[in-house]
Amino acid sequence: MHQLALYLQIYLRLKTISIFTNNSGQREVMRLQRTLKQQVSFEGIGLHTGRNARVCLKPAPRDTGIIFMRKDKDLAIKASASYVTDTAFATTLGFNGAKIRTVEHLLATLAGLGIDNLIIEVYGSEIPILDGSSMELTSLILKGGIAKQSKKRPYIRILHPILLSDGQAEIAALPHNGRHITYRIHFNHDLLGEQNLSIELTEENFAAEIAPARTFGFLKDVEYLKANGFARGGSFENAIILGEGGVLNGSGLRFKDEFVRHKILDLMGDLSLLGYPIYGHIVANKSGHTTNLKFLKKLLAHPENWEFMAEANHVETPVYI
Ligand code: ZN
Repeated sequence: MHQLALYLQIYLRLKTISIFTNNSGQREVMRLQRTLKQQVSFEGIGLHTGRNARVCLKPAPRDTGIIFMRKDKDLAIKASASYVTDTAFATTLGFNGAKIRTVEHLLATLAGLGIDNLIIEVYGSEIPILDGSSMELTSLILKGGIAKQSKKRPYIRILHPILLSDGQAEIAALPHNGRHITYRIHFNHDLLGEQNLSIELTEENFAAEIAPARTFGFLKDVEYLKANGFARGGSFENAIILGEGGVLNGSGLRFKDEFVRHKILDLMGDLSLLGYPIYGHIVANKSGHTTNLKFLKKLLAHPENWEFMAEANHVETPVYI
C-alpha cells in the first residue's frame, strides 16, 4: 500500500477506537490492560538472517505479558530483559539455545499502542523487518482491534533521577508526569550529524511521529555486516542506506530527522523489556541496544529510584534474574 494511504488509515482507526481517554476525556495514568480483539499475522524476511518467517499475534489473558513462542521448537520466551542474549545490531531474546532475533520494532509497536498481553507465535528465528519501521505493524494491530481487559495495568514511576554512562552513550530517567523521551544522536557524517527530538509518548504520537521511522545503516558498513552474519536481508526496501553524499534510497526520507525518530523506536522496544511502562522522562544520548539494556538492568538494581504502581492485590514486582 502507498505510504501516505497507510498512514492516513492508521490515523483514522486511532481516532475511531478512542481507547486513550476515559469517559471524562482525561488521559488515564493507570489504565486497563489491553490485548488484541482478534489474531493477526504477517510474514517477511529477517533483516539479519535474510530468512523468511511468519508471525501470528494472538490475544492473551490479563497479566500474561508479552510471550514469544518459537512454534518450530515448541519453546516460549517471555519478553523480558532477563532473556536478552545479544544486543549487537538488534535485540535478541534466547532460551535453551533457541533465539528470536530483532524483536525491538514489534515490541516498540506494542509499547507504543499499549498492548500489554499477547502471544507472539514465530515460525522462524527472526521477526520480519517489513519496511524497516513499525508502520505496517501499527496498521496490523489496529486492524486486529484493541480490547480493554478488566484489570488495571501496573507501571513504574520514576521518583529520583538515575543515570547510566556507557562510553560515549548516556541514558537517564527523570521524574515526569507522563511518558516522555528525549533523544540525541550524533554521527560523523555530512548529512546525518546531530539530531535531537523530545516527544511525549502518547499512542497518537507514536503512530504519527515514531512508527513510520525506518532502520538505517551506512553503505561503508554493509560489507563488514554481511561478512559477520548481519544485515543479510538488508536492502533499500527495508532500510535507509547512507552513502558518503547522503541517502541512497530513491524514495528519500519520511522525516528530515527520521534517524533520531528510529532510535526512539528502538529505545521504546528495548525499554519495554522491563515488563511495565515507565512513567518518567527518559533522556538518551548516542545510545543503542547494548546501552539500553544496561540501563534497564541498572534501573532494576536501584528500586529506591522508582515505585511500582499497581492495584492493591497485585503481587508481582519486576526483577532481573
Ligand atoms: Zn531499529
